[in-house]
Parts: sequence; C-alpha cells; structure tokens
Amino acid sequence: MEKLPLTILCQQNGGCMGCCGHDYPSAEKINEAITLNTNEFHRANPQTKQEFLAFRNRTELYNLRFGVCRNLILLPSGRLGCPLHPFLHNGKDLREGHCDINYLCKTAKKFSVWKPEKQHAFLNFIKSKNLNNIEYSLQIDNDSLMNEFEIIFIET
Ligand code: SF4
Repeated sequence: MEKLPLTILCQQNGGCMGCCGHDYPSAEKINEAITLNTNEFHRANPQTKQEFLAFRNRTELYNLRFGVCRNLILLPSGRLGCPLHPFLHNGKDLREGHCDINYLCKTAKKFSVWKPEKQHAFLNFIKSKNLNNIEYSLQIDNDSLMNEFEIIFIET
C-alpha cells in the first residue's frame, strides 16, 4: 500500500475550503459567500495574469466575506477552489503574497506522517460519512473528523 500525497485531503468531497478563512458563522453563510464570490468572478471573467491579479486585489487582503476568502469560488469543474491556484496557471501560483500558500491544517499535518494503512482507512472513514463539501471542510478545520477517527482506528 502506497503513502498518499500530502494534499489529498484538500481534494476530497468536492474540495476542502477549511483553511480559506476563519471564524465561519454557519454553513449557510459560507455558501452565500461562495455564491457571491463566484458571481463576481464570472462578472470579472479574468483571462490574463493581470486580470486574475486584479480580481484577487479587488478588496483588501483581510476583507473576508462571512469569514470566507473572497477568492474562494465554485470552479467550472464543479469543485470548490481558488482560481489563483497554480494548477490553473501552468504552475504559476497567483496566491503568492496574498495568503499562506504553505499552510497545512492540523489534520493534514498529522495525516502526512501516518502509515499508508492508516491514511487509507481515514479516507474510507471520510467516504462513509457522506458529507457535502462544506460539512467536510468545517469538520476538517475543527479537527473533529480526525479526533473521531483516532478513537475508533486500531493500529495493526
Ligand atoms: S483545511 Fe486542511 S485539508 Fe482543508 S484545504 Fe486546508 S490544509 Fe487542506
């Protein structure tokens, strides 16, 4: 069994947004923020690097919307994500200088040092929960998924 990549948790359940903000008021408000961000993104319709940066810089750095980063949108793929991510810009990271691109939550940090068996068991545990992307993100962000899993997982 192979060790899983560091950021696989960020890709689960339609994309995790747990670290794209803080002090989230509710799942409803997070959804509202993402809808408004996505509408603004479509209106701006950035095509060039300069236009993406102009979208990014349309408000102050820490001007969050209901605790949510104003760059977090529903991507055309149907996943939650950041339109400034290097995956979408041939490796160029347009988030640089805007957010902490090397941040890893506590769950992702612990996950990265688990044995492959435990990593795969955690992914199966996540799947068994049938969470939507916001529920998943909130439970990753507050460590509750990991804490619940650690209680039931038995190392062999
Ligand atoms: S909260 Fe953790 S799992 Fe979610 S995107 Fe951030 S680092 Fe990845």
